Amino acid sequence: MEHDQFASDNTAAICPEALAALQEASVGAAPSYGADRWTARLRERLREIFETDCAVFPVFSGTAANALALAQVCQSFQSIICHKNAHIQTDECGAPEFFTKGSKLLLVGGANGKIDLEEAAEVIAHQPELHAHKPRVISVTQSTELGTVYTREELGVIGEFARGRQALVHMDGARFANAIATLDCAPKEITWEVNVSVLCLGGTKNGLAAGEVVIFFEKELAREFDYRLKQGGQLGSKMRFLAAPWLGLLTGDVWLRNARHANEMARRLAEGLRKRARIEVILPIEANAVFARLNEQLMRELQARGREFYQFIDPDIYRLMCSWSTTAAEVDAFVGEVVCIQTKSSL
Ligand SMILES: *Cc1c(COP(=O)(O)O)cnc(C)c1O
Repeated sequence: MEHDQFASDNTAAICPEALAALQEASVGAAPSYGADRWTARLRERLREIFETDCAVFPVFSGTAANALALAQVCQSFQSIICHKNAHIQTDECGAPEFFTKGSKLLLVGGANGKIDLEEAAEVIAHQPELHAHKPRVISVTQSTELGTVYTREELGVIGEFARGRQALVHMDGARFANAIATLDCAPKEITWEVNVSVLCLGGTKNGLAAGEVVIFFEKELAREFDYRLKQGGQLGSKMRFLAAPWLGLLTGDVWLRNARHANEMARRLAEGLRKRARIEVILPIEANAVFARLNEQLMRELQARGREFYQFIDPDIYRLMCSWSTTAAEVDAFVGEVVCIQTKSSL
């Protein structure tokens, strides 16, 4: 049976533009380790998109991007403030702690997956000077693990908060494109203009086979980062094949079209579940995730049909993800399936 596509946005295929760009790059010989013209063009294109002279490093996975970026800006005796649902806390097998060689993640709560700054201030106040790790980084995820999006204003406040504490801001942008699609703003408005120093920009969930880029907006922070990448096994030798698909996404507005589409499918899915199946959707749909309350019997029936979703927050809350490749027909068919199960077993 085909794997259930709503399980995650990384179950999707490679988008046609990325695949075509990969195919196009696959001719003849080219310099290795990032000295090729595709990587050079990717760097240029990202400087254009972010409207600043930034340092750009392609890597293979989001976990590597986050962990190595954090290790670059955070010493072992310093700490990283993040939301308790942050991917760096829940899904990276301790990679940030491992690569920083001792940095501590300080967890804070906050509604809808967004950091509550009052709580963050309290957590910082409870770190006795010299005796606890020194708070150094505030890590935000955009869009968040709960499918919401920080507004420019919210990020502005976080940026100021960080600046006032000699901390810097790291952004896990595994779904950055989905946030831009929702906010309809210039990428600079939610990154370096609001004091974000380093962004891990996600490509995998936006249509690539694999690949993220680490972007330092303060170039001096990137000093010798190439060595760190090499040591971490993240310096691609045939880097042109990481870079070329990225160019497929970033030429024109393919990345934004993919993200807008995924977001729109999530809205359609949420609306269908709410209206046709009277299922509770518990969070606002601001990106490509839908968090729905599915009772045990319904879930069992869905699983028997090969449906598979991650359970989140509460035992009966499940995350359904849409991607660039989700079609309206697939969304409607899924909602129809739910309604059919409900009718048959009068759930
Ligand atoms: C998917 C994801 C990542 C990257 O995960 P990898 O599996 O390591 O590529 C990072 N952050 C968030 C929020 C994610 O959803």
